[in-house]
Amino acid sequence: VREAKKMNPALRRALESVVGPSGVFASLEDRLCYSFDATTISSVPALVVLPRTTEQVSRVVSVCHDEGVAVVPRGAGTGFAGSAVPWQDSIALSLERMNRVIAFSPADLRCIVQPGIVNAHLQKLVAKERLLYPPDPSSLEVCTLGGNVAQGAGGPRALKYGSTKDYVTYLEVVGSRGEVWEVSERSSGYDLLSVLVGSEGTLGVFTAIGLRLVPLPGSWRTFMAYLGSLEEASQAVVELSSRGIIPTVLEVMDKVTLRCVEEYLGRPTHDEAGAALFVEVTGEDEEVKVVSDRIVGTFEKMRSRRFEFAQTEEERESLWVLRRSVSPALARVAPTKINEDVCVPRSRLPELMRAVEGLAQKHRLRIYTFGHIGDGNLHVNLMTDVRDREEVKRVEECADSLFEITLAMGGTISGEHGIGISKAKYLPLEVGTTGMRIMSGVKRAFDPEAVLNPGKIIPPDLTAASKF
Ligand SMILES: Cc1cc2nc3c(=O)[nH]c(=O)nc-3n(C[C@H](O)[C@H](O)[C@H](O)COP(=O)(O)OP(=O)(O)OC[C@H]3O[C@@H](n4cnc5c(N)ncnc54)[C@H](O)[C@@H]3O)c2cc1C
Repeated sequence: VREAKKMNPALRRALESVVGPSGVFASLEDRLCYSFDATTISSVPALVVLPRTTEQVSRVVSVCHDEGVAVVPRGAGTGFAGSAVPWQDSIALSLERMNRVIAFSPADLRCIVQPGIVNAHLQKLVAKERLLYPPDPSSLEVCTLGGNVAQGAGGPRALKYGSTKDYVTYLEVVGSRGEVWEVSERSSGYDLLSVLVGSEGTLGVFTAIGLRLVPLPGSWRTFMAYLGSLEEASQAVVELSSRGIIPTVLEVMDKVTLRCVEEYLGRPTHDEAGAALFVEVTGEDEEVKVVSDRIVGTFEKMRSRRFEFAQTEEERESLWVLRRSVSPALARVAPTKINEDVCVPRSRLPELMRAVEGLAQKHRLRIYTFGHIGDGNLHVNLMTDVRDREEVKRVEECADSLFEITLAMGGTISGEHGIGISKAKYLPLEVGTTGMRIMSGVKRAFDPEAVLNPGKIIPPDLTAASKF
């Protein structure tokens, strides 16, 4: 863990005068709690500041701007790219106390929330009015809407409904000098709303978020299909996609991941299965029946298969728990889990599966693969131990090859987890020199003095105006 330089006491007093003494954490114990995300990257912030209002956020950013101190916005710290790690003697600006629903209009299918509200809390609230907020990252019980918007989060339901970027209608933003401004789906000119979604805290701090809601589907069918191999599972997905059959959720677990999560939850194991597909179809009764029958019919053509259908809400929830427990279960396999979320066109999935198996053998690594296979988005988890430098070198070589292979297939290095620190060095491979030049220009236009989360997405040497 990298410790921050000592913070100037005058700055601490200035921040306390904005948010009150209880809104600033200065002890090392408190600051350590804000030093990491879900990667292995960590760095202790100089201070943690916890505002409650837009005005406080604005004044905090303004003070930091004038003092030349970087500000790293933070939700729940569940990101997988190091984006919320408070680099460079910055302050961690935690939005956790801004967790109110500002407005909710079921008739307009809209709500406006503060950024610190937890995704699952919003889901429960809108469900009472028979509405759905579709984006559902598997961390939904913890992660915040602010973090979701800043990462452009996806989730299992993205296959049918799309990801966070498809649901943001409005943002109130605190800019790098503390100025407060607004942008919405109706704003004319360049589409700044789209630029901000997925900007990982580098362009502005979101203090209010408008979201689109959809009607809660009335009917569901949820099941697991246990197939012979990962390649067979990916062929089944290609078959579904080429026949235009799109469920709401289509997730995969390879053999070792399935076994790991079953053992973690103390459930009976499916030793014969080489992979499992978790499927949910939602909608009106007739639609659910037709679509799920067609999916089952497709899987029945596979060489080996077994099904487990949820009959009750409890059984449905139990299958969801299995899927959502994958990350905590894998945390027990090795001290360090590097989760690379590559995404390829669906037709290339069988090829990607073979390539991942080849990489595991070539680099002598344990690889656990799961993810949103229906979207072509796989989480390839390289299991290691950061203390084993020789193995970590092989992990890095393996990740380099994985990204090269993904890009050669017309894919992307990040399906949903973002770029942050961990993938910043690979971004130029995907977007090219011109893409990087334009992105650096965007960063400078929003944040000329590099106050907001510097060094994330764009490697520091490209942020020419940075004074940090
Ligand atoms: C078990 C597990 C499962 C996961 N499953 C998924 C999944 O299915 N799909 C998926 O996409 N991701 C998933 N993730 C990754 C992570 O949960 C998401 O990226 C999530 O959106 C992060 O939200 P957070 O509140 O934790 O944000 P943080 O990690 O705290 O921050 C993420 C980024 O958002 C910025 N930020 C936070 N709040 C604001 C704000 N108000 N204004 C501006 N910037 C802000 C931060 O600076 C940082 O750059 C998973 C993570 C875990 C640990």
